[in-house]
Amino acid sequence: MLLAEPPRSQGDIHFRLFGMPARIHPFFWIVALLLGISSGGKSPPAEVLGWMVALLVSILIHELGHAIVQRRYGGRPRIILYGMGGMTVCDDCDRSPKAQILISLAGPCAGFLFAVAMMLLIRLAGQQAGCVVGENSIAELQAQQLVGLTLLGVRFYWERFDSFQANLMIFYFLQINILWGAMNLLPIYPLDGGRISRELCLLGNPRRGIVLSLQISVAAALIMALVGLSLSFFVILLFGYLAYSSYQTLQAYQASRW
Ligand SMILES: [Zn+2]
Repeated sequence: MLLAEPPRSQGDIHFRLFGMPARIHPFFWIVALLLGISSGGKSPPAEVLGWMVALLVSILIHELGHAIVQRRYGGRPRIILYGMGGMTVCDDCDRSPKAQILISLAGPCAGFLFAVAMMLLIRLAGQQAGCVVGENSIAELQAQQLVGLTLLGVRFYWERFDSFQANLMIFYFLQINILWGAMNLLPIYPLDGGRISRELCLLGNPRRGIVLSLQISVAAALIMALVGLSLSFFVILLFGYLAYSSYQTLQAYQASRW
């Protein structure tokens, strides 16, 4: 979600994740708290805390996906969590299109794999869990009193646990990992999909690839902002901002080439 690495601050938390340096900027906690409060209405503190834990773990999994592939390509990545999300910086990574595409795909894929692993674990615990597509199947599930959530037309369900907090955490983990991964695959700068789009456009047209990928980014972000009209103000604001920043980058890039 970021272009530039945020500056170090005194409130940073430093640790190592599978041997790779990681840092959490204080701004991450502030945005996570605000998102937790705004998404849950009048949520009790325990629910907001659960949301923050799910967000922290999910974003670390996403960034770890990028970092592990970067390390496979001989780099020494570092993970930073800041504001709306995270970034994995690698100064000495393989810059080949194949490496860059695989590195970008690895973040969303790590989140999807985590969601699958969680559903498998629920089944191993002897509970029903899975996903279905189609309105009839979804209606059947609801009749069986299985809890779940519908994301992008797919119903993810599981047999209710006695603990309210356990059901809530499963809900948050599925929601964040699947939606965050899917959103990151959109061909919009500086999301992972924007990076993949740039590499593919450059492979197809080395001379105009960057311009083409930025034009795609502006168009896709505008479409998503329009889709947001029926979803939430937050979606409109986010994609409106990304459309504007892609347009600014496009203008600056074209001006620099004259
Ligand atoms: Zn990513």
